[in-house]
Amino acid sequence: MRIVLLGPPGSGKGTQSQRLIKRHGIPQISTGDLLRAAVAARSELGLAAKAAMDAGKLVDDSIVLGMIQERLAQPDAARGFILDGFPRNLAQAGELAKLLAKLGQPLDAVVLMEVDNDELVRRIGGRRTCRNCGQVFNVFTSPPPAGEPCPRTGAEHDLFQRPDDNEATVAERLKVYDEKTRPLADFYAARGLLRRIDAMGELEAVTARLEAALAAQAKADKPAAARKQPAARTRKRKPAPKQAVKQSKARKPAKKAAVKAKAKKTRAKGRTVVRAKTKVATKARRPVAKKAAKKKAPARKVARPARKPARKTRPVGRKTGAKAKRHR
Ligand code: AMP
Repeated sequence: MRIVLLGPPGSGKGTQSQRLIKRHGIPQISTGDLLRAAVAARSELGLAAKAAMDAGKLVDDSIVLGMIQERLAQPDAARGFILDGFPRNLAQAGELAKLLAKLGQPLDAVVLMEVDNDELVRRIGGRRTCRNCGQVFNVFTSPPPAGEPCPRTGAEHDLFQRPDDNEATVAERLKVYDEKTRPLADFYAARGLLRRIDAMGELEAVTARLEAALAAQAKADKPAAARKQPAARTRKRKPAPKQAVKQSKARKPAKKAAVKAKAKKTRAKGRTVVRAKTKVATKARRPVAKKAAKKKAPARKVARPARKPARKTRPVGRKTGAKAKRHR
């Protein structure tokens, strides 16, 4: 499964990705996470990206594309992936298509998660991340469960608010989304990949809608021929046995007729008829007698004496007749 989760900041792309990872066993690739890691590591790339991130602007395409290319080449991405926060403009979408075509791994679905602007601002305002395990919570909608410690430290989660989740930057990020990212909906709709879901409401309900959208897209993706195949096969296969039955039925009377005609000819030749008939009958009986002999020993005893007198009678009869002539 190779999918893109599309949606404004705060629409729940990251949260739903975490759930898809557990269900489908494919990695989430978030350019936001990769960029934050680069900033934290103070790498050259991170330093180049930081200013744009702090201002709520998009980071340069060349930086993001380089990171994505490297990440998609890792072995875990061969099984599939969830792209979260990438692509974010038409240029990135075009480059992604080229890259995936090269890898022979085209996208299966793009899901657009739709949320009201007021709800987005409320969600982003409550978003907090654990400094130690990286888990994301929302102090309004999904706070850390009481008594559940951080799996890294065993202590309480050490929560902090992302620097770009402040009011001013959020307004800029939403503006950038409308201008640069929203047009991707038409881009993917034109390619038959887009599914829209209502991403408002309970987490579970949104996950159910997301899974339903992915399933519907997977069904629509199957080529029409592949979907019709079973029906087509049944239609082709059915007449075959009928024909076979007809043919075998037709052949049987022909054989019978041939045997009858042969019998008629032989009957016309007087005594030869009797021999011919006896031969046919004997041939037919032999395998049965052999089988019976293998199974039951007494069957042989019964079969042999039954045939012998019939053969003896005729030659004896003939010789007797000749001898009688000579006597005369
Ligand atoms: P996110 O965590 O997806 O909200 O991203 C946080 C910030 O990282 C964004 O506001 C951008 O500055 C930057 N960023 C993330 N993904 C991209 C991308 N695909 N293209 C450009 N900038 C990005």
